[in-house]
Amino acid sequence: MSQDRWEKSRAWLERAEKVMPGGVNSPVRAFRSVGGHPPFICKAKGAYMWDEDGNRYIDYINSWGPLIMGHANDSVLAAIHEAAQLGTSYGAPTSAEVLMAEKIQTFFPSIEVVRLVSSGTEATMSVIRLARAATQRPKIIKCSGCYHGHGDSFLIAAGSGAMTFGVPNSPGVTKETASNTILVPYNSVEAVEQAFAENPGQIAGIILEPVPGNMGLIEPKEGYLQGLRDVTQKNDALLIFDEVMTGFRVAPGGVQELFGVTPDLTTLGKVIGGGLPMGAYGGRRDLMSMISPSGPVYQAGTLSGNPLAVAAGMATLNLLSDTDTFEVAAQRTQELVDGLQTILSELSLEYTLTRYGTMCCLFFHPGPVVDYESAQQSNTEAFGRYFRAMLERGVHLPPSQFEANFVSAAHTSEDIQTTLQASREALQVAHS
Ligand SMILES: *Cc1c(COP(=O)(O)O)cnc(C)c1O
Repeated sequence: MSQDRWEKSRAWLERAEKVMPGGVNSPVRAFRSVGGHPPFICKAKGAYMWDEDGNRYIDYINSWGPLIMGHANDSVLAAIHEAAQLGTSYGAPTSAEVLMAEKIQTFFPSIEVVRLVSSGTEATMSVIRLARAATQRPKIIKCSGCYHGHGDSFLIAAGSGAMTFGVPNSPGVTKETASNTILVPYNSVEAVEQAFAENPGQIAGIILEPVPGNMGLIEPKEGYLQGLRDVTQKNDALLIFDEVMTGFRVAPGGVQELFGVTPDLTTLGKVIGGGLPMGAYGGRRDLMSMISPSGPVYQAGTLSGNPLAVAAGMATLNLLSDTDTFEVAAQRTQELVDGLQTILSELSLEYTLTRYGTMCCLFFHPGPVVDYESAQQSNTEAFGRYFRAMLERGVHLPPSQFEANFVSAAHTSEDIQTTLQASREALQVAHS
């Protein structure tokens, strides 16, 4: 294979590595888990990205979820442009923020009151502070393999047993912080019940990706989410859905709409900012009224509710409510998954495909994939070969087995067919 086609990207990577950790501003971009070198992207439109060498890719990262309408969508660009003419940041309240809060509520009725922030990480860190303050309890339950951003409380490694107390999986996270995070496997209500039994009066709540998308895309077992609702209620603890990824993606109203289970608090991000930095947390009025300045729980942000981010987010949510953006993206996702299923059968590969709404995942594993432990058994070497063969064929997948693929409304059926043709070849390359 010729590396010349990535000559400029490689030169940029060399320069980048001298001035930035690993040459990137977020770890997964460095391709460490799939091998090879990342193309440096210089422009994108619709379903496509182009790199510095002029190679074009059909993109299934979509900025890791936000771009459900595709890159550089015209109405989103127009909204950003219009807002920018009026000033890029005021540090004072605006009517656009009110409209945004009202709009969020139409998608997520459980979010009676919302606070806008600038990232998903900020949303999850803040929501945990609120949960602890509201319950006056120190501990939180988290599922192994669920990602909630890089806040200290969430960077806790999976232990061996269901009830292992967390050990930090990043230097710099203290044992004290880790000891307040209790790890349980995803998809086990029993493990959560056991955690409550062993820590009476200590647990503020459980936070989870109700449909995990950060260990690949995993399905909740029948009754799991309702089981969590029941056990948290029984223990006067809070149920927190981290829908930073799944919000507006698995269904317009997220997992809570799809499964009909209502959390006390929800975090949002990614799609909500339409490609600009924004996150949000919100939920029950009585809980959210504890947030400063209406209550004592402090949380603030210089750029929170930034006019450009709100404009991009609002334009995106308007596309979701007023056009068939979601349905088109979901339909394309279905076409992709159906096509992959056919190819897998033809090649006699027993791999697991999952899909919700506009997200899907191909596990290099026969399944069932139900939690972190089973996801870890995927054949990541074969995935790496598949990923690199796809990149060579002009398809940019997320560079990790443990990420979901994101489809946008800008992907055409033709793009999907091109992707499937590449997949057929790449799967053969990966197994030859
Ligand atoms: C991406 C993500 C986050 C973190 O959001 P950032 O904007 O990257 O800080 C938190 N939770 C989930 C479920 C995510 O997918």
